[in-house]
Amino acid sequence: MLFLRLMKILITAGPTREYIDPVRFISNRSSGKMGYALAAVAAGRGHRVSLVSGPVAIAVPSGVDCCMVESAAEMQAAVQERFDAVNALIMAAAVADWSPVCRHSVKQKKSSNELLLKLRPVPDILRTVSARRKGQVVVGFAAETGNPEEEALRKLESKGLDMIVGNDVSAPGTGFDVDTNQVIMLWNGGRQALPCLPKTVVAEHIIGWLEQFYAKRNRL
Ligand code: C5P
Repeated sequence: MLFLRLMKILITAGPTREYIDPVRFISNRSSGKMGYALAAVAAGRGHRVSLVSGPVAIAVPSGVDCCMVESAAEMQAAVQERFDAVNALIMAAAVADWSPVCRHSVKQKKSSNELLLKLRPVPDILRTVSARRKGQVVVGFAAETGNPEEEALRKLESKGLDMIVGNDVSAPGTGFDVDTNQVIMLWNGGRQALPCLPKTVVAEHIIGWLEQFYAKRNRL
């Protein structure tokens, strides 16, 4: 029966902001376009989609429930709150790897002295939730500079994922802040390298893979 194949999918998108003081933060170049394309495609195919999004300048796709967050800690809390109720998680967000040890409550005064910033590692959301999953399909992204396949394979295993989407964010027309992406999808026992395509088409491939994997795993 077709409706049994419809999933509740949690998708994360965009960058996080790790604040130094009320006006300054550390972030990255993620535009959120890949995660939002995944949300739009999944909702368009009838799935129930929850989006947890960092700060981006894109409209929420229709039919998608969206929770806006800023920091990695907020994203972690939002993902953990929703994870148990979904069938699949796609972590497309470019989550910070480090966050300032101390967030000043007032704007720091400019000075000609060097400013030393102490950063601490941010907990890996994907690794944490994938370790406590109960049947959810878990998909991650690996944005690399250079050949992404080796690093993506390492992350597929070390983070305990069902599938990872690797891309070279240094190549033209792929990765951050453009409408196209060139990715390789890797899973246990399989791989699919795609040419450079619009992010919506890449999203169709990823959601298509997820639908097949979910149906096969649950014998639907
Ligand atoms: O290790 P790396 O940051 O390259 O892994 C990328 C994958 O891990 C992405 O799917 C990203 O959303 C996720 N991630 C995470 N928590 C972090 C850092 C990355 O869930 N703190």
